[in-house]
Amino acid sequence: MARILNSVRGHQEIVDRLLGAAGHGQLPSTFLFVGPPGVGRRKIAMGLAQALVCEKSKIACGECGPCLRVAQGASEAVRLVMPEKTQIKIEQSREILDFLSLRSLSRSRIVIIDDAQTLNPQAGNALLKILEEPPENTYFFMIAPSARHVLATLRSRSQIVRFGSLTEDDLRSERPAPEWALQSALGSFERLESFLDRDEVRLRGLAWQILARWSQDEPIFLDPEAREWMKDRSSLLSLARYWIMAFRDAMMFQAGETRRLFNSDQKQALTQLAQLPAEKLALMMRLALDLETGITAQRDPQLSFEQFWILSRREVQA
Ligand SMILES: [Zn+2]
Repeated sequence: MARILNSVRGHQEIVDRLLGAAGHGQLPSTFLFVGPPGVGRRKIAMGLAQALVCEKSKIACGECGPCLRVAQGASEAVRLVMPEKTQIKIEQSREILDFLSLRSLSRSRIVIIDDAQTLNPQAGNALLKILEEPPENTYFFMIAPSARHVLATLRSRSQIVRFGSLTEDDLRSERPAPEWALQSALGSFERLESFLDRDEVRLRGLAWQILARWSQDEPIFLDPEAREWMKDRSSLLSLARYWIMAFRDAMMFQAGETRRLFNSDQKQALTQLAQLPAEKLALMMRLALDLETGITAQRDPQLSFEQFWILSRREVQA
């Protein structure tokens, strides 16, 4: 069964409304789907594309030729456009116009523009006319994190649909994962996957090990292993983000708010951290944020980490 909408989690009301409109031939031609990454915006656009090309059912059968080809990413009726490197350029808009100038053999044609916020002004302008007067049975789905990131001229021609985060149950039903990962994912499959990556799981464990040594004031700088990750910008960036979450959790824990922890599997370590006064924890979190900023601003990773360690230890002992 290759009916894409069957694998969508959450957003039931939006899906029902759009399918209903499509079934009555009342679907607007241009949509802007906005919401956080990893909640299913593109999958829903693909699922609607199936419904719009299906030969058997107005809500997509998932089994006919056109449905199968959409599911395989091989449909002649669907064009998916994504940024090349960081932008969608005018050549890509011209390709869309070429695609729509061909005679259509299917019920509908669908253009899905992912990361529509990256359409540069020329590329966006090239599409204005066709969005204003689209050929019959042609549908555009633009996808972006928020409406304000998209060129105003495109936004004003679109029906905006807002997607919220998914619930932990939505995530769990699709992707079994430890509780801490489901909670830390903040309703995004993309974020969830990033936490389940093997390297990330290792780095998260390492972040807590380092924090334990930090609590004991055990020097870490001479470890050969520590020398490795201290120099590696991307590892250190992940570590910094886990420390931010750890200090944030310790503050929540201290305030008795234990339901919304990112590190619900680390209660013992959190109990220990939470013994620090609240203002110290806030300061630790700020130092960890400074570390993150330093690394992303291309400062020397090892120096940034040493500064974080020394300043935070000094604060704890003061
Ligand atoms: Zn079908």
